[in-house]
Amino acid sequence: MATPLSTTLADVPGLPARTASALAREGVATIQDVLLWIPFRHEDRTRAADSVFQPSAQPACHQVTVTKTGNKFFGKRRGAGMFEAQVEPVGGSAMGQLLTLRWWNMPYMSRVIAEGQRLAVYGRIKEWKGRLSIDHPEFEVIEEEEGETLHTGRITPVYRLRSGVTQKALRTAAWHVVRSLGDDFIGDLLPRPSTAGEFAGWNRARALKAVHFAPTMEDLEKARRYLALEEFYGYQLRVVRRRRAVLEAGGRSHTAGELARDFEKALPFEMTGAQKRSLQEIQRDMACPAPMNRLLHGDVGSGKTVVAFAAMLGAVESGRQAALMAPTQILAEQHFQNARRWLEPLGVNVALRTGSRAEEGGVELFSKTSSGRSQVVIGTHALLHDENLVRDLGLVVIDEQHKFGVAQRARLIRKGDTPDVLVMTATPIPRTLTLTLYGDLDVSTLDERPKERGKITTKVRPASRTDEAAEFLRAQLEQGRQAYLVYPLIEESEKLDVTAAKKGHEEWTKRLPHFQVGLLHGRLSAEEKEAVMRDFRAGRTDALVSTTVIEVGVDVPNANIMYIHHAERYGLAQLHQLRGRIGRGEHTSYCVLFIPDKDEEAKERLAIMEETTDGFRISEEDLRRRGPGDILGKAQSGQAPLRFSELLADTRLVRLARQLAEKTLDADPLLKGARFAGIRAFVFQDDDPQAMMQ
Ligand code: ADP
Ligand code: MG
Repeated sequence: MATPLSTTLADVPGLPARTASALAREGVATIQDVLLWIPFRHEDRTRAADSVFQPSAQPACHQVTVTKTGNKFFGKRRGAGMFEAQVEPVGGSAMGQLLTLRWWNMPYMSRVIAEGQRLAVYGRIKEWKGRLSIDHPEFEVIEEEEGETLHTGRITPVYRLRSGVTQKALRTAAWHVVRSLGDDFIGDLLPRPSTAGEFAGWNRARALKAVHFAPTMEDLEKARRYLALEEFYGYQLRVVRRRRAVLEAGGRSHTAGELARDFEKALPFEMTGAQKRSLQEIQRDMACPAPMNRLLHGDVGSGKTVVAFAAMLGAVESGRQAALMAPTQILAEQHFQNARRWLEPLGVNVALRTGSRAEEGGVELFSKTSSGRSQVVIGTHALLHDENLVRDLGLVVIDEQHKFGVAQRARLIRKGDTPDVLVMTATPIPRTLTLTLYGDLDVSTLDERPKERGKITTKVRPASRTDEAAEFLRAQLEQGRQAYLVYPLIEESEKLDVTAAKKGHEEWTKRLPHFQVGLLHGRLSAEEKEAVMRDFRAGRTDALVSTTVIEVGVDVPNANIMYIHHAERYGLAQLHQLRGRIGRGEHTSYCVLFIPDKDEEAKERLAIMEETTDGFRISEEDLRRRGPGDILGKAQSGQAPLRFSELLADTRLVRLARQLAEKTLDADPLLKGARFAGIRAFVFQDDDPQAMMQ
């Protein structure tokens, strides 16, 4: 029979009353509170007994006895100093080995650690002049009465703590909770696994227990995978359900004709095979009455904009409006200029709407030539707030989708009557993430770069070689090329960004005496920014010192040089985006990533930028180094966190979740089954409550 998850900790057999009440005081009151506090890692302490101290690159767990302690003080400042504890392996050291644990500026450690204590220590052993030490190890004082079985000699869970809750209390509680629970204390969300499959013999109850305390590493891994599958399944239910709802909603058919063909003919280049194929996919979707919901996915410079424009003409030809939303003002203006160049000659009315105008009193910036209704509307998120300009939307295009939250996307879509939707992104997302993040979308991929593009050569260089680089730059500018000089990203403050860029501007103005050096940063007004960009586009400025405001989308084919200062402060994916500003014309392009002299770590990390311009490889490397958390965190802002997101890279698991979700929704489209009670609200949260009542 099911044990109620709401059982208070005081009623868990074996759990010391003082531990239960200490946890309760911190709001950890029930079995459920403990059980759902998933350990963020485990230590394999099964082999701790034969531990020998040796330096290593990896942190490891050691069972030790404290033999000596002491504070050492340096200088006069109170608290400046070091607390040291000398330890030996439990049971004494056959080889007379000693290890020193060191804590800097934490003199109160002398009240925590004492001679004779047993500690479980976790950290990386360093060697210096033959002495072994660990700085600031994680540790736990092992009290004999707790019983060795809990903390040692097993695979031990380690919890991410919040203030007031100790590792030991939580682990002790989890141990007794897990021991008190039966084999099916909780119902399953997932359908019963087949006896042949990977999860044969597993259910939610077993997984929830084993994710805390598992007899083997294999079991632990299986438990984590089972719970991840469950979580992905919930997410996929929502995604598949949303996709089906959109298809059922029924939109209108938009057929491309003459206009789209004329547009294609008038282009100064031939579309790549990938562009043509993607456009066909889009036009086929748009011709269907069911609303399109498509992602156009292509690396920087792959030519997404023309595809979008051609698609927009399909809506226009069907007598409706098309909107293009861009993440920055500069980008919106650039799209607007292209639209005027390419669409107005075809007789299409184009309008621009950006945020700054609203702040200055809500003036809309219509295209000068436009009289009557605008057929194509381009803008920033200001479009969302415009009641007059945007009406009867047939197609919504969202550029650089990852810069917008899910809610903003939904809001623009809602302005139309089930419009077709095309979202575009240059973030090369691995396939599994696409499936999870954009699982409700069909995907078109631009996997072919336009021909006649010059190569990009990338070098990582110490900042001390800037003068040399300046010489190279002068030679390129002499030949009529242009350059971006990008100034550092300072996370904490846009103001510091601007200061650094201004200083950079002064320096480069001196270094390039015969050239025009422009300055672009986020604090300029919209008009100033646009003026700076206009000068650069027209070739009136030779070099543009800029903060990262040029990160997305900007397209000036004649610019073939990019110097990025303090490149060590950027993620690989962002460097790739920045670098995508060059290599757009016929000339060979050069990207130099300046890092501090002797920053070996940055040199090693950025090496892949020298090797490849393939956004896919770079993003995989990024994923490998950082884990998917960052990508996910940004991409799905506002959504439930995925606790097991590191397993998202596991295609098989994500696919399995998808298949299970499809099957479930085939059989039970409204999830009436009792096992879905807990997640129904999550799955249907995108639904219009009105529609749900029917
Ligand atoms: P992104 O996919 O990064 O948004 P853009 O749409 O800005 O790329 O296109 C980059 C540049 O390539 C633009 O100057 C565009 O006019 C040009 N371009 C697009 N398609 C082609 C093509 N098939 N052949 C040559 N140049 C192209
Ligand atoms: Mg673009």
